[in-house]
Amino acid sequence: MKKVIVIGSGFSSLSAACYLAKHGFEVSIFEKNTTVGGRARQLVKQGFTFDIGPSWYWMPDIFEKFFADFNKKTSDYYQLEKLDPAYKIFFEDDVLTIGDTMDKICEEFERIEEGSSVHLRKFIRKAQDNYNIAINKIVLKPGLSPLELVTKETVLRVDQFFKSISQEVRKKFKNPKLISTLEFPVLFLGAKPSKTPSFYSFMNYADFGLGTWHPKGGMYEIIKAMENLAVELGVTIHTDHPVEKIEVDNGKATAIVSRGNRYEGDIIISGADYHHSETLLDKKYRQYSEEYWDNKTYAPSSLLFYVGFNKKMRQVEHHNLFFDTSFDLHSEEIYDRPQWPSEPLFYANFPSVSDTSMAPEGCETGFFLIPIAPGLEDTPELRQQYFDIIIDRFELRTGQSVKNSILFKESFCVNDFVEQYNSYKGNAYGMANTLAQTAFLRPNLKSKKVENLYFTGQLTVPGPGVPPSLISGKLVSELTIKKLAP
Ligand SMILES: Cc1cc2nc3c(=O)[nH]c(=O)nc-3n(C[C@H](O)[C@H](O)[C@H](O)COP(=O)(O)OP(=O)(O)OC[C@H]3O[C@@H](n4cnc5c(N)ncnc54)[C@H](O)[C@@H]3O)c2cc1C
Repeated sequence: MKKVIVIGSGFSSLSAACYLAKHGFEVSIFEKNTTVGGRARQLVKQGFTFDIGPSWYWMPDIFEKFFADFNKKTSDYYQLEKLDPAYKIFFEDDVLTIGDTMDKICEEFERIEEGSSVHLRKFIRKAQDNYNIAINKIVLKPGLSPLELVTKETVLRVDQFFKSISQEVRKKFKNPKLISTLEFPVLFLGAKPSKTPSFYSFMNYADFGLGTWHPKGGMYEIIKAMENLAVELGVTIHTDHPVEKIEVDNGKATAIVSRGNRYEGDIIISGADYHHSETLLDKKYRQYSEEYWDNKTYAPSSLLFYVGFNKKMRQVEHHNLFFDTSFDLHSEEIYDRPQWPSEPLFYANFPSVSDTSMAPEGCETGFFLIPIAPGLEDTPELRQQYFDIIIDRFELRTGQSVKNSILFKESFCVNDFVEQYNSYKGNAYGMANTLAQTAFLRPNLKSKKVENLYFTGQLTVPGPGVPPSLISGKLVSELTIKKLAP
């Protein structure tokens, strides 16, 4: 039986492992941390449950398709609920509520800007077409050739690859709050909306058209489901096994070394951060130079806080965005002039608002995220300074005092991303999807220098986010299966 070694146990690695085990290969996962899940691990403390990384469950169709490939359904493993409202956005002088249907969202848009719902419906219809093309035609290609992007549908939409989502949105909407609301979804792709092609408006369809969902028990339920599926399929999982080296013999990857032991494989796939994965090779086998990595645009890093509150919050929903300071200034301080933000925007997540299993009775589980430039200095003092800033703003905008209700708080920032995931410059969610970093222009799924060596995950194709990571695992498994075909 052919042996496949998979490095890492994030969504992409688990996905690849499941497909390859289903195909009949002997698959072993080697994960450096003591639990699986990568950036999507879980923190449980004093009865509070926190998702350490992802918290937005978008594109439910992609999860359904993944499990359907194994004749399963998501409901075989976890219970999904569509959130209503999907989320709230706090501005300086108003709060927007995004409901769970287009009708509700249109009503809210009309309240802010008369006549905007007509434009919104048109915009979302176009976004839906883009979604269907992106999901059914583009992202399922491995990014090996520019020709993959040339389809009759993309040729007809070529202008959308050269205009930014910001330009598109500003053509139809004038109110800055609506503009920020429509620019928010592409932040998941890791770049400024002014640098993201308007074709990516398919993220707006994911947002308003498909909705925001919550797996009961939190996002870690998906990881548990995939771990169970992998084990059912015969995958062996070694946690607490950092890979120290990828061995190459005669131009072919042959084995890995972990904790001083050597494990042979016919194929090696790394789902660890791409830059780090290449450092496991001797220099002559690395495809990309340090300058290459340094010149890329990364998705932001983040300063995160996991807070146990001993009371229920008022005025908040499960997902809350605090866009009460300048979106443009904060983006500039992430991408153009990397520095700690002068007036940070932030995101606050209270999963216990809709799921009582996430916190002890009468308490609230709070997760706060400030996006920041990768590679910034990270000290305990800076973390505390920014916690104070956002908690003050949170109290002001929601009209309640919460500081005296904090039972504990944990934080996570650049140094933790580096130390826990070997993340390049402490990026939180990989390499941004700009035009120059799309499809075949991203770091490749297949090594160009070492035979039998492959890569998967948010730094390669198709890009950042949980659904793309599931797809990345599938794409790399298809290449591997082709390679090992008799
Ligand atoms: C704070 C945050 C919020 C996010 N929010 C969302 C969201 O709401 N919705 C969404 O869809 N996406 C979100 N994302 C993005 C999403 O979580 C990621 O895109 C996805 O989890 C990446 O999966 P991956 O498999 O590429 O990598 P990872 O999850 O990083 O997995 C890589 C694994 O490799 C392991 N590893 C590294 N080096 C070695 C080594 N030498 N040996 C063995 N193992 C090694 C790491 O420990 C890790 O487990 C968020 C990410 C973060 C960080």
